[in-house]
This record gives sequence, structure tokens and C-alpha cells, in this order.
Amino acid sequence: MASDQREVDLIISGAAEVATPRGETARGGAALGELDITEDGALAVDGGLIVAVGRASDLRRAWRGRRELDAGGGILVPGFVDAHTHPVFAGTREEEFEMRVAGASYLEIAGAGGGIVSSVKGVRGASAEELLAALLLRLDRFLALGTTTIEAKTGYGLSPKEEMKCLEVIAAADAIHAVDLVPTFLGAHDFPLEYRDSDADRQRYVDLLVEEMIPAVAASGLARYCDVFTEAHVFNLDQTRRILGRASELGLGLRLHVDQLTPLGGAELAAELGAASADHLEYISDQGIQALGEAGVVPVLCPLVPLYLGQDKEAPGRALVKAGLAPALATDFNPGSCYTQSMGEVLTFSALRFGFSAAEALTAATLNAACSLDLGQRIGSLEPGKAADILVLDLPGHRHLTYEFGRNPVRSVVKAGAVVLGG
Ligand SMILES: [Zn+2]
Repeated sequence: MASDQREVDLIISGAAEVATPRGETARGGAALGELDITEDGALAVDGGLIVAVGRASDLRRAWRGRRELDAGGGILVPGFVDAHTHPVFAGTREEEFEMRVAGASYLEIAGAGGGIVSSVKGVRGASAEELLAALLLRLDRFLALGTTTIEAKTGYGLSPKEEMKCLEVIAAADAIHAVDLVPTFLGAHDFPLEYRDSDADRQRYVDLLVEEMIPAVAASGLARYCDVFTEAHVFNLDQTRRILGRASELGLGLRLHVDQLTPLGGAELAAELGAASADHLEYISDQGIQALGEAGVVPVLCPLVPLYLGQDKEAPGRALVKAGLAPALATDFNPGSCYTQSMGEVLTFSALRFGFSAAEALTAATLNAACSLDLGQRIGSLEPGKAADILVLDLPGHRHLTYEFGRNPVRSVVKAGAVVLGG
């Protein structure tokens, strides 16, 4: 009876299916591929939260929407959570891309003064206002591609003042844009040119990070995580341990770029430090896989990066899942090694590279990514009580999430209960 219906802000119906992982913790092993599928599904949203999920006919008996959104026979899935991005930069690096496809390696380009160093020049030469304007445009694109939350790293400032400028830009963007940004301090992305002449110089930059930059960042409250690019040509294991040890003491969560270009044992270090995530992992060892599993670290996989860098070595995505781990997926959006913001492409390439099913890829790109950011209680699945971050996709079923690529299927985006795109 109509009088029994409760009025809510929004009802989304007309969907071929609602497809979502369940729960508040990262799903690993066989559970990675367990989705809840509701055919002819609908969602009721009120006060920014999901209040009901079910078949449209059942849901309509209980709820009446002040606003209705027709999914047009598409599917409803949680907003994508991109667990690894470098979105604060000025200027692009298309010349390097051309060098690389012509045969130069990432390390050769870095050695020739390109790579991260050229983006540092760009950030230092840009005002906070210019960086913010560029970031807001990128957030519009993330949203248009269905990403409703991103982890956002600094790392192209590499000085106390410039890194703080980037953190302030991230906070400003988070305050005004629908996309949520989770800020990560990546002052240890590379050594700035002024600290590269000798090992002693490089050690002085580590001192600066530990004694000045990390305490200032922690005191500012502008970062939730601290990250290090642990690699043979940048920060070694001892330096990483010192930097992240300090960050942890001061209350920051830990993320690491590890075992991407060489096998250094970075995954083992991420486990030892109790990191929230260990990212890349192309060269992870068997011991590293075991250590991440025992420590409950989320592996964040970026399957487009080796493709973009022209590298043959892939992260062992399937082996990680077989070992029971709960991987997240990410673009690694940045101006050098992966210039894309599309989680849609990441999903397809997780299938092609790791053998992930569409269900596994969706869980990794939503709930597991949210859990790597300590947001599993709020976002990452379509369940009552979670924030209403919802995509309406022009796809006939969830298997098309990996099957089709190269077309953006996003029809509408709902963020925290508001229809922010389409509708
Ligand atoms: Zn990265």
C-alpha cells in the first residue's frame, strides 16, 4: 500500500543488474570473485547513503523516490576507487613517451634528466592556483570515467615548501570537487637534483625528509599516508625503513612503490613495516608474497604500467590471489609511466594480464581499493549504510566490465547521494 512507502531522496531502477562485492574488509583468494548480483536490481538512496538494495519490484513496495534515475537497462556498480595516482603535476611528457616507444628505457630516460625530474621542474614553476586548476580538470575526467575516490600522491615538489604546496592543492581540490581525494606524501619519490652529487648528498635528503619534512607533514594533518619509491636507482631498503619508520611514529599510514623494476625485497619490507599497501610488485619474490599475506598488506596492482613502459615483466596477479591475498587495482595515473585515468582499461588489462574474471576485477577496483585506503566501512560496495557512490554503466551485464574496452560506458555517476554526472 502506498501509505507504507517511505520517501527517500533517490531511487535508481531500470537496471539489468546490480553487481557489487560485499563487506567492509578486503576480499582475497576465492572470495575475490564473489559478487552479489541482483537482476532487475534497484537502489534506494537517502541522506547520501544507500538505504536499500533489491529487485525493483520489491524495493518499490517499500520506498518512493523524490527523484528517480532510470538505468536504461545498464548495470549499477560501486564507484571505482583508484588506489594509486600522481595527479598533481604541471605539463606533460609526451616527448619521453616517443623516446620510449623508439627504444629508450625508463631508467635511460631518468638518467638523461627526464622522468620525475622534469615534472619536478613543472611543479616548482607553477603556482598553487595553476596546479589546482589542472588538478580540478583531471578530477572532472576521473569522474567522467567512473572514479569517485582516488588516492592522490605528491612527489613532484621534493622540497619542504613545494611538497606542502602540493598537499595544500590536494586538500583544496578535495574540498570543492565531488571526487574524494586521499592524500599521500611522496617526498621520497626521487632525489631532487640539488641532492644528487654524492651518496652523502642523497643521505642529506633522507635526513631532510626524516627530520623536517615528515614532521611538518604530520603536524599539518594534510596527509593520511607516506609513500616511498623503493628501487635500485632511488631509495634503498635502509633509507625506506628510516623514512617510513619516522612516518609511522608520527601517525601516518604507509604505502610503498616496491619491486617494480628490480627484485629488491620491497614486499618483505612492506610486510615488516605493517604497510597498508605494497604497490606494483612486478618482481615480487615467493617470500614476498607470503610475507604480504601474513601481514595483511593489500597488493595494489597497476597492469597498464608495464605495458606503457614496454616491459615484459608482469606482477604475478593470479599467484597473489592463489596465495589468498586481496589485491586492489589502480591506474598509477602520472605524466610519465602511465598517462591514463581510466579504471575501465585497468579492469580489462587485469583480465588480459592476470587472468582476473570480471567479478574479481570489480572487487579489486572497488572494495579492495577502498580497504587499502582504510575506507572499507564507508565505500567500495553497494550495501545499506555505505555512502551512495554509484555508477550507472551502459553495459548489459557485469562481465562486459572486462570484455569491452576503449569505450567509456559511464552513463551516470552518483557521489554521496548526489547525481553529479548524467541523470
Ligand atoms: Zn606510482
